[in-house]
Amino acid sequence: MKHPREQSWGPGDEGLLQIDLGAIGRNYDLLQRRVGSVERCGAVVKADAYGLGMSRVAPVLWARGCRHFFVATLEEGTVLRRLLGGDAEIVVLTGARPGTERDFLETNLVPTIFTTAGLRSWADTLQATGRAGRCALKIDTGMTRLGMGAEEFDLLCHDRGLLEAAQVDLLMSHLACADEPRHPQNLLQLDAFQRAARQLQALLPSVRLSLANSSGVFLDEAYHFDLARPGSALYGVNPVPGTQNPMTAVVTLELPVIQVREVTRDCRVGYGATEAAAAGSWLAVARGGYADGVLRAQGGRGCAWACGQRVPMIGRVSMDSATYDITGLSPEKRGSLEHIQLLNQQLTVDEVAGYAGTIGYEILTSLGWRYRRQYLETAREPESRDK
Ligand SMILES: *Cc1c(COP(=O)(O)O)cnc(C)c1O
Repeated sequence: MKHPREQSWGPGDEGLLQIDLGAIGRNYDLLQRRVGSVERCGAVVKADAYGLGMSRVAPVLWARGCRHFFVATLEEGTVLRRLLGGDAEIVVLTGARPGTERDFLETNLVPTIFTTAGLRSWADTLQATGRAGRCALKIDTGMTRLGMGAEEFDLLCHDRGLLEAAQVDLLMSHLACADEPRHPQNLLQLDAFQRAARQLQALLPSVRLSLANSSGVFLDEAYHFDLARPGSALYGVNPVPGTQNPMTAVVTLELPVIQVREVTRDCRVGYGATEAAAAGSWLAVARGGYADGVLRAQGGRGCAWACGQRVPMIGRVSMDSATYDITGLSPEKRGSLEHIQLLNQQLTVDEVAGYAGTIGYEILTSLGWRYRRQYLETAREPESRDK
């Protein structure tokens, strides 16, 4: 199946986004080994698999043995159900809004529910339709985002009838600081989750437990429970910032260079004339600007990969292009420069995110729609083309 964006925009070369499905598969293998088995390792493919194409990514994970998938919305879940068929468990993380319960049942999607009223509504729908349909209950253990508060949860634990009627089958919570292993918040949340789990298991002995996202998988095994929910690490983002990335890079982004020139006198570059280039500098303009996900916040800080080395971005990022100072390249390399890379094995999503003051997640989900997309199935680490 072709990803909707996997298309070439005519003969023009507007950049090539390579997505290494083999690397995603190997990343999944590493994560499932860490938690002990494929049974205990789900995969988060929300937001079109973090911008990389759910329709291409999910079948690769399925082939590796993954049977538990997480998406953000009903619509994503419906698409994924069509893609994977009946056997996958598909959990929708942002819940079932009132009135959509029947759609969840129709498609056999598991809603994540975080209010007592939501559980009632789900239980009522099950009763009215006479159908079986499990749900996940999400509690807040310290992140204070989505999730039932502790007082409401305590009250709920006096209502075994409701818990059974709603067929609560998975207890979830989300870690706020898993990417900082020594942050005290982790232990506090673990403790709160364990306490809630004991309370609920006293009523529903077979309820499964899920706490860990990608970074949680790299915390102590006490955080793993029955089902992990890694997303970003599958796509190459470092789950253990500050230490060597155990994951394999997944994306390569190559942009065409559309102008190379020597500036013959001192000048200033780009909107706002924010940066100076001295006479004799060589500048390359590459097709790819903030409309393509080259985040404008990188201006004056970012870099590209050209002929096996980093070259600095100079001046602000424009909508369709950005300028790079290639003075450091040899004259032969400058003369023949046709492409630069903005992401590859060396220039990672995490490094680029650092230049833009953001996280790898945002680099991935911002990747533009004007690139030609190419999906690779490498069997092992690809050799860098620029050695
Ligand atoms: C997005 C999300 C995940 C995946 O998080 P990563 O940090 O990308 O691994 C897991 N659980 C929930 C509830 C999420 O919203």
